[in-house]
Amino acid sequence: MIVFNLRCGDGHTFEEWFGSGSEFETKIDDGSLTCPECGDTHVAKALSAPRINGGAQTPAPSTPCGMPACGTGMCQMMGDT
Ligand SMILES: [Zn+2]
Repeated sequence: MIVFNLRCGDGHTFEEWFGSGSEFETKIDDGSLTCPECGDTHVAKALSAPRINGGAQTPAPSTPCGMPACGTGMCQMMGDT
């Protein structure tokens, strides 16, 4: 899911959720996207960065010894003899 800040021809701003950016384009094209305040179909994206749902940053994977080789399974300190 992705949310866009939208603005109609009258300057009303509102948020709308879409399954994807292409779904937004489709709704713009067929005119099914309307301003909830005045019903205007001249809706465009407002200048604002879109938010991605659940877009938390994933932390870097921790490795046993901290060496880059650990992530590749080539670590000399694993001791799997
Ligand atoms: Zn409006």
